[in-house]
This record gives sequence, C-alpha cells and structure tokens, in this order.
Amino acid sequence: MVIHGGAGTILKKNMTPEKEAAYTEVLKDALQKGKSILANGGSSKDAVIQTIELMENSPLFNAGKGAVFTNDGTNKLDASIMDGATLDAGAVGGIGLVKNPIKAANAVMENSEHVLLSGAGAEAFCKTQNLEFVDPKYFFTEKRWQSLQRALDKENGMGNIFESNPDYKFGTVGAVALDMEGNIVAGTSTGGMTNKRFDRIGDSPIIGAGTYADNQTCGVSCTGHGEYFIRYAVAHDVSAQLEYSNKSLDEAANYTINEKLVEAGGSGGLIALDKKGNISMPFNTEGMYRGYITDKEQYIGIYKND
Ligand code: ASP
Repeated sequence: MVIHGGAGTILKKNMTPEKEAAYTEVLKDALQKGKSILANGGSSKDAVIQTIELMENSPLFNAGKGAVFTNDGTNKLDASIMDGATLDAGAVGGIGLVKNPIKAANAVMENSEHVLLSGAGAEAFCKTQNLEFVDPKYFFTEKRWQSLQRALDKENGMGNIFESNPDYKFGTVGAVALDMEGNIVAGTSTGGMTNKRFDRIGDSPIIGAGTYADNQTCGVSCTGHGEYFIRYAVAHDVSAQLEYSNKSLDEAANYTINEKLVEAGGSGGLIALDKKGNISMPFNTEGMYRGYITDKEQYIGIYKND
C-alpha cells in the first residue's frame, strides 16, 4: 500500500521536530492500518477507505477535519474512489456535512448508478446511506482559518491563492492498495484549495485526473494544482502509458509529473502502485508527505531527499 498526505512547499527549515513527528506518526498509523487489513486477507477497498478515513480524521491534513476554507469561510470537501477490478468509481464534490467524504464516495460507487455527485444533492444521497453527519463546525481548525485570512489579504482579484502564494502547501490525502486477490483500489480526499470560490472543484473527485485504478495497469492518487491535473488527465495518463507502452511504472509516473506537468507549470505529485506491486511517488514540489508499506518494509518521507 502507498499513501500521500499532500505535496507543496514543505521545507525542513520551516518545520519543527514536533510537527515532523506528528505528521510521521499519522502516516505510520495509516500505513499500519492498511497493512493490518491487507495482511489478514482484507480487500484493497477496505484498506483504502479505512486508511483515508484515519487521515481525514487527523487535523493535520487538508481532508475531512482540517480541510481548508473556501472564500466564504465554509469547508467544501471532495473525494473519490476507484476499483481496478471492475473500473467502478464513485466521487463527491463540494460537500460539507459528511464526516468522512471517502465513505460518501464509496457509497456513490456502491449504491448509486452514478459516478460523481455534488453539493446539496450529494448530501441528500448520503442521508440515505447511513453515513455519519456532522455540524459544519466540526471541520473548523484555527490553522486553516488563519490560512484563509492570509489568502484574503493577499488575493489578486480572482482569489487564485496558488498564483499569489508560492508557499502553497497542498494537504490532500490519498491511498492506493493491492490486495492478495490482485485487486488495486485508489482513493483521494481533499478540502481543495484555500480561498476557492464559485463552487470550484479540483481534480481529486475527477476520475482519471486525481484518481484512477485498473488491475491491468496500476492505481494512482494525485495531489497538486488541480486545474493542471484535470487538464492533463494525470492519473489516467500514468495508467495509459503502462497500457500502451513498455514503460515501467516509475518511468511513466515521472514522465507525467516531472516532464509533462513541469513544462506546463503544474505543481504537485502522485502515488502509484502497479499490478506487480511496484511503487512510485514522484513530485515536482519541495516535498510530499508520503509512505508505503509492503510485507517486508515500511518507508515514510516528507522532503525531497528522504
Ligand atoms: N488537488 C487538490 C485540488 O486542486 C489540492 C491538493 O492536492 O491539495 O483541489
């Protein structure tokens, strides 16, 4: 299993040892959770949902509790999941009342005939699905509130915080797992971008952009400047290279992130896991919270040279 907790301007000089330890601990817990499910013969779907749920419940990441604020001071969450065995997929965009958006995405996949539901309609569907609802205040964290205030101070007309803030940190979470049956599942969950407006939705709930899984190729979860990830269909681009060329997973993932996206000016990274269990975690930012676990080893990294 491989996970990420977002890419961005994550520099050692800006981190305290306490903060670093806190991030590492949640990443470790998430990997252990996934491993315990997979090692006991559980499905990659359960591993992905429960791992992402754990990260959504941590205020450290921009997903679930800890999600960033929109321009009008609300939290609007996006998530998606895809099953590589069937190519079934489910996603939600712009929801603010369901505690764990990854579970909402899964409910769309499992119990609706649709792939992507948004806003109040998605929440009405979730009401029928036995999902935990919370007061919108649940998502409030002081840190993200302050980020919104800084963004509002700096904004350059249309509220494009990314362009006006080179220190942007993404904090989206994602997971890809391969189970004993050879099934690959990928999922992604995010609060999107600080100061977003006009009901902006990024790549995270877009199948083929932020998330993709196909047992014949690989599973992918992305984090970064969503508009680029949508236009370059990043998650599917990695899978397509495996399908149509002889590239390795690492070559394909690196090509998309470190050549195509860099040329285009799109910041971010992705995690990918192929049908043979190969893992790739490229990013073109200063850092990316990331980790993987196999039956033999566990790795956690934050900065470029980890
Ligand atoms: N990709 C997400 C978005 O554009 C942001 C992120 O990865 O942090 O909504």
